[in-house]
Amino acid sequence: VKEQGKNSFQFYTPDMNEIVSKKMQLEIGLRKALKRDEFIIHYQPQVDVNSGDLIGVEALIRWQHPEWGTISPADFIPLAEETGLIIPIGEWVLYEACLQNKYWQNKGFLPVRIAVNISSRQFQQSNLVEMVSKTLKTTGLDAKYLELELELTESIIQDSKHAISTMHQLKEMGIHLSIDDFGTGYSSLSYLKTFPIDTLKIDQAFTTNIFTDLKDASLVDTIINMAHNLDLKVIAEGVETLEQLQFLQQRQCNEAQGYFFSRPISAEEMSTVFKEQFLA
Ligand code: C2E
Ligand code: CA
Ligand code: CA
Ligand code: CA
Repeated sequence: VKEQGKNSFQFYTPDMNEIVSKKMQLEIGLRKALKRDEFIIHYQPQVDVNSGDLIGVEALIRWQHPEWGTISPADFIPLAEETGLIIPIGEWVLYEACLQNKYWQNKGFLPVRIAVNISSRQFQQSNLVEMVSKTLKTTGLDAKYLELELELTESIIQDSKHAISTMHQLKEMGIHLSIDDFGTGYSSLSYLKTFPIDTLKIDQAFTTNIFTDLKDASLVDTIINMAHNLDLKVIAEGVETLEQLQFLQQRQCNEAQGYFFSRPISAEEMSTVFKEQFLA
């Protein structure tokens, strides 16, 4: 992480506040956040829709700024990507999440996968595989308990040879791979058969509209069928109601995640969830 100059405090004087844009202040804060230990991770359960078993936990970062309060990742991850700060931040998340999962396993909880978001910029780093491998080694987590949620962007698809090679190396280590936010953004169906992935994650925009938009319902149906034909599992995010869950169960969706089961919660709160059964 690049250090700020000695007089960076000047940006916080009232006069300068008017001049320096909000974005610049955010960037200055972001550069210091790792060293100041301001990030925390919340965890959200991923559940098997048939058995109700907890099968995974997604790690979601939050920024707790001493003055600005809690900042949602939607408000700083894009800037972190733009500035390259996502590289050290992403490394920190992976390390913390793997360590936490190992800690839960050491406590005797049922082993689950920890799912970590990898932004496209991070995925395209030439040392990604090495970094992940090192992290597993230092934390002692078995690779089969790690899942990487990949974001597919145009630049990844355009360099698909490199992407495929990276994915294969991660797969060979025993790591699970999923495609995040499926159905939004840059979507190309052809890569699905060439990319060595395990799971498609249906974006919550579709889950939300299952009962309000017939086209979204039919898209969800189609994505699930297509995924199964390609031997991929499907997880739906943003499940908030029993009706949505039942729709997904009927369509043979494999896994679900959302407020219906649990909001993202702290590591301590997660400890009680390990003892829970999600479906009667
Ligand atoms: P995402 O990966 O698509 O994560 C799902 C988002 O939906 C999370 O928002 C989660 O809290 C929220 N969510 C979960 N269940 C429900 C539900 O039932 N209803 C509704 N309305 N929302 C639900 P969050 O935590 O604010 O994260 C936003 C985005 O920030 C994530 O979207 C992800 O793209 C990014 N992000 C979060 N943590 C990381 C990280 O460690 N690394 C990277 N690269 N990106 C991250
Ligand atoms: Ca995700
Ligand atoms: Ca999403
Ligand atoms: Ca995402």
